[in-house]
Amino acid sequence: MVDLQSQYANIQDQIDSKIADVLKSAAYINGPEVHSFQKELENYLGVKHVIPCANGTDALQIAMMGLGLKPGDEVITADFTFAATVEVIALLQLTPVLVDVDPVDFNISIEAIKKAITPKTKAIVPVHLFGKVANLEAIMEIAKEHNLFVIEDNAQAIGATYTFKDGSKKKAGTIGQLASTSFFPSKNLGCYGDGGAIFTNDDDLAHNIRGIVNHGMYVRYHHDVVGVNSRLDSIQAAVLNVKLPHLDTYNKARQAAARKYNVAFAHEKNIITPVICENCDCHVFHQYTLRVLNTDRDALVNFLNENSIPCGVYYPIPLHSQKAYADKRYDEANFPVTNQLVKEVISLPMHTELDDDQIDFITSKVIEFINK
Ligand SMILES: *Cc1c(COP(=O)(O)O)cnc(C)c1O
Repeated sequence: MVDLQSQYANIQDQIDSKIADVLKSAAYINGPEVHSFQKELENYLGVKHVIPCANGTDALQIAMMGLGLKPGDEVITADFTFAATVEVIALLQLTPVLVDVDPVDFNISIEAIKKAITPKTKAIVPVHLFGKVANLEAIMEIAKEHNLFVIEDNAQAIGATYTFKDGSKKKAGTIGQLASTSFFPSKNLGCYGDGGAIFTNDDDLAHNIRGIVNHGMYVRYHHDVVGVNSRLDSIQAAVLNVKLPHLDTYNKARQAAARKYNVAFAHEKNIITPVICENCDCHVFHQYTLRVLNTDRDALVNFLNENSIPCGVYYPIPLHSQKAYADKRYDEANFPVTNQLVKEVISLPMHTELDDDQIDFITSKVIEFINK
């Protein structure tokens, strides 16, 4: 699905020497590499504060802790996403409110958010799924009207740009009060282990969160709040310092691969391809995900695997149907889109090193099966 070896081979000299420098410096935790990565990412995103942490799941949890949400507060998020998003809501004893998604871009449905708001609602967590930024303008309007926080789960869309109706642009992850991201190796900006970060433009939230990631300490050995221990280590930061300058090129390579896939599938009536906006970077293709109609999706997965083509089903089960998150409040009638998508979606190989021959082979096999 992801060719991290070829990507590493292209930047190996820089990576190896940066890692060797960290090893010699012995500044393994909170060293200068971490500090410089934080500054570089703040500049790249145009956001006031980046707070590095241990992984993207921690980033989400810490963001919610930073807002001071209380048990029983309701947090609205998408039914069709990776479990991390809902997991941390539940862990903090907040009440997850899962809602349906949009059939075109798979992101949280604006109508469904509106219907789910109650007096207990405190926050909305849009996930920029597969690298496509959610409809943030509408989400921010709803949030403002109801006095809610917005936490962007930006684990899949780092480097994407959102364009507002007035033409102004901002990077994904800089629009809500808070955002979280992950530097898991296969993410668009991945390190060589675990890593994550929280972003905010709010000085007070940034201060809260810097304490929370460090055992609730604002002054050494004075624990003012209950915190966690969540750090990005210097070796991972060194890797990210080498890779950040390549992020736009990497995302362009993903977009180019998506465009080639779309061209190959353009005449297939039983394949719904993702929408690609021209002259716009609202989608950075963390995944390239099709909907296949009138097709046995699982048989297609097997067929591709038999032909040595990796593929994935993200995600096969709606969160509201997962044992851990099932709740009698949920009514199946409220999840028509997610219930459909879990049967139709298939994600094809997507990474920065895909070449034309690979794309031709993959698309020809998909088309062969679809028309069988
Ligand atoms: C990867 C991912 C996370 C979690 O990140 P980790 O670094 O693996 O903890 C959270 N949300 C989404 C949408 C993700 O894709």
